[in-house]
Amino acid sequence: MPSPADPASPDSAEIVFHAEGLTKIYRMGEVEVRALDGVDLDLYRGELVVLLGPSGSGKSTLLNILGGLDPPTTGTVICGGRDLAVAGEAELTEFRRHMVGFVFQFYNLIPSLTARENVAIVTEIARNPLTPEEALALVGLGERLDHFPAQLSGGEQQRVAIARAIAKRPQVLLCDEPTGALDSKTGVVVLEVLERINHEVGTTTALITHNADIARMAHRVIHLSDGRIGRIEINEKPCPAKELRW
Ligand code: ADP
Ligand code: MG
Repeated sequence: MPSPADPASPDSAEIVFHAEGLTKIYRMGEVEVRALDGVDLDLYRGELVVLLGPSGSGKSTLLNILGGLDPPTTGTVICGGRDLAVAGEAELTEFRRHMVGFVFQFYNLIPSLTARENVAIVTEIARNPLTPEEALALVGLGERLDHFPAQLSGGEQQRVAIARAIAKRPQVLLCDEPTGALDSKTGVVVLEVLERINHEVGTTTALITHNADIARMAHRVIHLSDGRIGRIEINEKPCPAKELRW
């Protein structure tokens, strides 16, 4: 176990997310897809956890439920003293706005706004946010504040998206295949940024991937298949992101 004095150590005593008995059934006419089939999950403060599973295993479904984007069919998700599964729209909006940051495979930046303005959209409605300049400096883009998305590479655009997600100082950063659209060299740079934010800011980070190489950087690896959690591995010595190759 890492020493308790190390500020980068996840505190396994403190649970940020507690999910129990999650199922998600999508119904399309006569057809039922059981995307989640009884998932129990805790996320601990300060950890970087990878949810690893093949395509179709339910990773995005799980992340969307944890982020309050979609309700489970059954089960509970406790975060910050509320149960997202039964929360109303106003409560969920409040939760998404202040508690969670999202990073998706595609960056979803607004093309007509600069990097700084894309981040400012979020900081303007947040409580006690980082400034856009601080957030962009954290992702290594302090010199690119006034660039538009089209003037940035894919990896740089993803770093703007990460700056936007962390600027509100979320309890948890939820990342769905954040390197899925990037070549491996650029992907590693993006993962180094997530690693740095986890170390320096202490942001609890859940990273979804189907790429087993990426799982090596996690404190914990949660394996998902067919909507269920199988093994959970603990990495005593997570691999530095810069050493990852795939
Ligand atoms: P992953 O992210 O691991 O690839 P998903 O959570 O996207 O997996 O999907 C899990 C299963 O649920 C898949 O069989 C997928 O086709 C199905 N699914 C996901 N979203 C929907 C939806 N909105 N409507 C119907 N089926 C869906
Ligand atoms: Mg997915």
